[in-house]
Amino acid sequence: MTSDPTVSAPAVSTPAEVALRDLATADSLLVALDFDGVLAPLQDDPSTSRMVPESAAAIAALADLPRTRVALVSGRDIATLRRLSQAPDMAWLVGSHGAEAELGIDADRDGDSAVVRSPELTAAEAEMLAAIDAHLEAFEHTLPGGHGTADFLIERKPYSRTVHTRGIAPEAAAALHGHATEVLEEFPDIRVIEGHDITELAVKQATKGDGIRLLVRAGEPTAAGYLGDDVTDEDAFAALDELTDSRALDTGLSVKVGSAQTRAPWRIAGPEAVAELLGRLVAERTEFLRTVHG
Ligand SMILES: [Mg+2]
Repeated sequence: MTSDPTVSAPAVSTPAEVALRDLATADSLLVALDFDGVLAPLQDDPSTSRMVPESAAAIAALADLPRTRVALVSGRDIATLRRLSQAPDMAWLVGSHGAEAELGIDADRDGDSAVVRSPELTAAEAEMLAAIDAHLEAFEHTLPGGHGTADFLIERKPYSRTVHTRGIAPEAAAALHGHATEVLEEFPDIRVIEGHDITELAVKQATKGDGIRLLVRAGEPTAAGYLGDDVTDEDAFAALDELTDSRALDTGLSVKVGSAQTRAPWRIAGPEAVAELLGRLVAERTEFLRTVHG
């Protein structure tokens, strides 16, 4: 990313400083949010992740507002994302880095408009996933302590397997990453996704940018905001920039959470700041809608 001339290094803003006006006053607004590290603090055990209560309340409030859509965009599979986030029914969900989506019934749209995208594995993808499983199982057994006692987690998702290395010494995590990606020697089409303390081996090529494009196509907002903390969220930021450049959106606001490199123009510190920012958006959006629509 460092060679990308669009990469900026925005300083950390307080939630009060981020320019929300174009979102709050949009004719039709999409608020899209990464889950882990943004709405939910990162956990050593990823199955224990939960939203910051203030963010959960803000999302519920936004989802209840007219002309306002909330979507979660995550690397998690949809079923896990729905369970862990306990997102309101009105929220749209994009999972598996854009490969899966559940866009629920929308009262603002005509008829039965639920869109579910959970594509079958092709034969080639199923073969790659089986190869990943065989490979990971084989190397699990080679580690000191053997299966079940090694200090890492393998998460099995519909289109990928994720090796979680949070809490493991950097050298050991790097070794695990090296082992995990050896399967590419035989199956170079497997996609390696690296994020915060994860190495993911995926057999579909979707990105969170695809997720954003799907959400904008389906919901036709005039403005969209996206908050993300991870490398994979940069694809979502890039998609917002493209959609704004092509005039599909009047406004696309990207906010990076945390200290990593980013192309986003805004940066805030962490999930607590996210909760505060969302609270501000609820207040400003509610006030705007009351003024305009009474
Ligand atoms: Mg994240």
